Amino acid sequence: MDTTTLPQQMIAQLENIVGQSFLFSDTATRTHYGHDETEDYNFPPSVVVKPANAQEISEIMKLANIYKIPVVPIGGRTGLSGGALSIYGGIGLSTERLNSITIDEKNLQAILGPAAITQQFQEAALEKGLFYPPDPSSRGSCTIGGNVAENAGGARAVKYGVTKDYVLNLEVVLPTGEIIRTGANTLKNSTGYNLTQLMVGSEGTLGIITQIVMKLLPKNTHNVLMLVPFFKAEQACEAVAAIFRAGVVPSALEFMERDAIDWGLRFLDNVNLNVKDEVQAHLLIEVDGNYPDILFAEAEKIMNVMEQFDIDEVLYADTEEQKNALWKLRRTVAEAVKSNSIYKEEDTVVPRYELPTLLKGVKAIGEKYGFKSVCYGHAGDGNLHVNIIKGDMSDDNWKNEVPKGIREIFELTVSLKGTLSGEHGIGYVQKNYMDIAFDKKQLGLMKAIKGIFDPNNILNPGKILPDVI
Ligand SMILES: Cc1cc2nc3c(=O)[nH]c(=O)nc-3n(C[C@H](O)[C@H](O)[C@H](O)COP(=O)(O)OP(=O)(O)OC[C@H]3O[C@@H](n4cnc5c(N)ncnc54)[C@H](O)[C@@H]3O)c2cc1C
Repeated sequence: MDTTTLPQQMIAQLENIVGQSFLFSDTATRTHYGHDETEDYNFPPSVVVKPANAQEISEIMKLANIYKIPVVPIGGRTGLSGGALSIYGGIGLSTERLNSITIDEKNLQAILGPAAITQQFQEAALEKGLFYPPDPSSRGSCTIGGNVAENAGGARAVKYGVTKDYVLNLEVVLPTGEIIRTGANTLKNSTGYNLTQLMVGSEGTLGIITQIVMKLLPKNTHNVLMLVPFFKAEQACEAVAAIFRAGVVPSALEFMERDAIDWGLRFLDNVNLNVKDEVQAHLLIEVDGNYPDILFAEAEKIMNVMEQFDIDEVLYADTEEQKNALWKLRRTVAEAVKSNSIYKEEDTVVPRYELPTLLKGVKAIGEKYGFKSVCYGHAGDGNLHVNIIKGDMSDDNWKNEVPKGIREIFELTVSLKGTLSGEHGIGYVQKNYMDIAFDKKQLGLMKAIKGIFDPNNILNPGKILPDVI
């Protein structure tokens, strides 16, 4: 499929739909919308369009079907699996003009345009005393539409769940151009196949989400945050499952290997934290609720668990400033890694008790294939982000050896009853590992679903499903 240039007549028709000032074919704009945060990839679309509403998107999809031109939905471009890359050129469809945020206080719900920035939505909810828990570290620039498309998680998923747990109803433009609603604005719904949840996590391959109805919670008033340094990284992973067995469900439970902390500290240079040379990893642990006494009791229970391991002095964040600094450090790790070297990030996830085995296995596979990895992530969910660092590795090894190592890492996660991605999606970069998690029958079902929604395979083609099934 080569659609690096579009027929002139089609461009004129696109202009008629979105208006001249919302169609861009200059190199700078195409390059800008040609990348997300996945490695160093850039696949510029042939044109970028910025429609105003679902109706315009519907007309674009109908036109694209006539010309058989691919369309790629583009949100905040913070994706880490290459879902928003226009790998075959075609139309890059930025949702950025659909960014409305309406909070429905009566029902504890929100009605959102897909381009609403996650943090702005969280803050709008907080202003009304309400809480939207999913909290991807990229919240300052990712969009709610992108979060739904990837089923994003983040630090608070361990207690509150991921994006799918908050989506009640969607408006979607199908690849063929019809506009549908997937469900109802209700907390319960046992009415037919669950189209809402089929759309969640479909990475822009089954439809373009144009409106989202989200559930909200009342906001909590208090939290306790602590940073626990471990002298052995595997013990930090062991401690994760032990916390739950002690009867506490933290609102965040994050793992950071030594390099992740060091690189984060260097990247920020305004967070003061003294880490002893012998420390190999940290757990950042938060409990939240409305009653300080209960939270302190839970924190004490966690401390009792921590003391069973080889740890250094625990840091309790006393002030809001300290809490913000620790969260900033955690949220910065991905950017800090990126600023150090070209890297590949694998979003492995296993049942949480298997985390120590996963970490040990990742390091052994790295030694076998000659790569260094920096690991961190949402340990409470068993979700370990494995960042494979290129450093001074030869291009040849990077291209030919590292993928073999990645395959072994995924084989390990699946053997531990885990899977390839916990929250970043499969997109472009992980699709050819899907055979590790699914057999031909399962992949065939997914392909058939894609075919029903998108008979001409024009909505975000070349994503999720492997090249050969
Ligand atoms: C520093 C950093 C930290 C991160 N931390 C986390 C984290 O803690 N947790 C987490 O889950 N993720 C995290 N991510 C990954 C990323 O932010 C999420 O995947 C996010 O959901 C992507 O949203 P986006 O708006 O940037 O989408 P994009 O990157 O623009 O697109 C992602 C996918 O969604 C599709 N899409 C976008 N909008 C729509 C729409 N309206 N309809 C249909 N499909 C659409 C695109 O086609 C693409 O396939 C992080 C990324 C970075 C760079």
